[in-house]
Amino acid sequence: ALTAGIVGLPNVGKSTLFNAITQAGAEAANYPFATIDPNVGIVEVPDERLNKLTELVKPKKTVPTAFEFTDIAGIVKGASKGEGLGNQFLSHIRQVDAICQVVRCFEDENITHVSGKVDPIDDIEIINLELILADLESVNKRFHRVEKLARQKDKEALVEYELLNKIKEGLENDQPVRALEFTEEQEKTVKGLHLLTSKPTLYVANVSEDEVADPDSNENVQKVKEYAANENAEVIVVCARIEEEIAELEPEEKEEFLEDLGISESGLDKLIKASYNLLGLATYFTAGEQEVRAWTFRQGIKAPQAAGIIHTDFERGFIRAETVSYEDLVDAGNMATARERGKVRLEGKEYIVQDGDVIHFRFNV
Ligand code: GDP
Repeated sequence: ALTAGIVGLPNVGKSTLFNAITQAGAEAANYPFATIDPNVGIVEVPDERLNKLTELVKPKKTVPTAFEFTDIAGIVKGASKGEGLGNQFLSHIRQVDAICQVVRCFEDENITHVSGKVDPIDDIEIINLELILADLESVNKRFHRVEKLARQKDKEALVEYELLNKIKEGLENDQPVRALEFTEEQEKTVKGLHLLTSKPTLYVANVSEDEVADPDSNENVQKVKEYAANENAEVIVVCARIEEEIAELEPEEKEEFLEDLGISESGLDKLIKASYNLLGLATYFTAGEQEVRAWTFRQGIKAPQAAGIIHTDFERGFIRAETVSYEDLVDAGNMATARERGKVRLEGKEYIVQDGDVIHFRFNV
């Protein structure tokens, strides 16, 4: 499964947020294939559509889809030189598919800040610099190898040489690889390099309890937003302490609590949705009398692969996918009416599954 890694300097609220994630935890029995690791927290992906489908179909059971966060502790200044748990940190970050960087925006005299003052841009730059330095090292190693081949006029090597030069130049100017522009062809090579700063990234601004309702009143949040806008990254505002409390509540209590706080959605729910999108994930549904269920897929896959997410037999014996979009089904009110209206399509092997599709797979056993 794809996972988003939670990183941040010490004392910014990472553990508090990760605690909220494990507390809110998905019902493990529903996800037997999920990763079992104390550093991985599995959460249900909030989706209003699933509630609506449940109302329509009235199944015995409803199962949301899940998402994994990985807690990556140990970044300090100098990590790329092996300071602290530097090397370990970098190898852990190499294994995640996206990065959620927690940034301290709350003031609290009782909680030490590693640099002595709360300065979110400084903090972000410390971490980003470590990742840039680590990438520079990887790129330089490769550069020397490719340079030799390029001198011998090896065509492929020449192309890669040019690309590496561009990345190197960017990194040397403090630009993360995700902020550079590449051709489609280059994009493929870049992926193969597995660079840390090429991973999709979002910033999690951790504010204090009394700021959640109006986070823009916090100057630090404003600064983080400006910084993120420059690299087209998203910012999610949370109060990690409040998220920890929310995670312990029952669904009805949770709604009331949020209302009291003056917000419509918890920070964690926003973070889950944003991370899901950041990774290019989407959801399709199966809706039967036994079970209404949401399934995660990578945008762009075809119907047989989507069937394979449920069971490998579904993919091997795939015949077709009876598909109706969520909107059409809700409009119709039930499957029979949707069918009468011609909204239920029979899709074949080449169909590219869309977010919100409600699918019934037909397959040979
Ligand atoms: P980590 O080192 O990044 O994992 O940070 P922790 O999660 O351990 O948090 C460091 C300290 O900051 C702890 O005492 C937390 O209770 C406190 N803290 C975390 N989030 C918040 C918050 O939203 N508001 C306030 N006031 N304190 C927080």
